Amino acid sequence: MSDRLLIIEDNAQNLYLMRFLLEKNGFAVLGAETGAEGIRMALHHKPRAILLDIQLPGMDGYAVARELKKHPELAGIPIVAVTSYAMVGDREHVLAAGATGYIEKPINPETFVSEIRSFLPPEPKPPEKSLR
Ligand code: MN
Repeated sequence: MSDRLLIIEDNAQNLYLMRFLLEKNGFAVLGAETGAEGIRMALHHKPRAILLDIQLPGMDGYAVARELKKHPELAGIPIVAVTSYAMVGDREHVLAAGATGYIEKPINPETFVSEIRSFLPPEPKPPEKSLR
């Protein structure tokens, strides 16, 4: 499993802030500005998690999540929707599209990294050493 996180986000300032916070906490971050680019990068890099903006030009985050879920090799990768929509039902909508979870924009720099960590699968364990 890759140690990298993929952020799909068209707003440069949002991408910058999320990347900054995650890199400061030891994560490697890949960024994509469109859904199509994000899907290509997900398939190529198999990131540990995908942070997905919902309001994207062209293919929106719901469509991106549904497309990602069509690929069995990406099945174990959590998708965390990041959206400023605060409408009732929006959470159900993103989960129905295949997202594992949801965080709201504007992101809170104090809690963002721990929120993201809560969605990550467990760290891959190093192979057991044989006792001789
Ligand atoms: Mn956006």
